Amino acid sequence: MTKKHASGRDPNAKALREAERVARLHPDQQKDHPTAVPADPSKLGHINTYGALPEYYIDQVFVCRLCGKPEIWRARDQQWYYEEAKGHIDAAAVECHSCRRAKKRRGADRPER
Ligand SMILES: [Zn+2]
Repeated sequence: MTKKHASGRDPNAKALREAERVARLHPDQQKDHPTAVPADPSKLGHINTYGALPEYYIDQVFVCRLCGKPEIWRARDQQWYYEEAKGHIDAAAVECHSCRRAKKRRGADRPER
């Protein structure tokens, strides 16, 4: 049996509870948590912030602003978003997988509002 990487899409209640629990832990405990992913500051040079750069990523629970569904933004996905896709530090996941996919299907030529 192969273990599949949990994507955070359609999380079950247990996964949501666990992510919420980890989010409330002390930073020192979060850093050592098995789901935490260490950040690579050398890949975060595009980020202009007066605050500190992240030292690690942890799974984040968010509620889709379009359909209200709770979903988990996985630490691995955050790492990719910030370090490879060079996303902005203030940007966070706000829409779930299915809403983003539906939007993509409608085409990028249509304005958001
Ligand atoms: Zn949604």
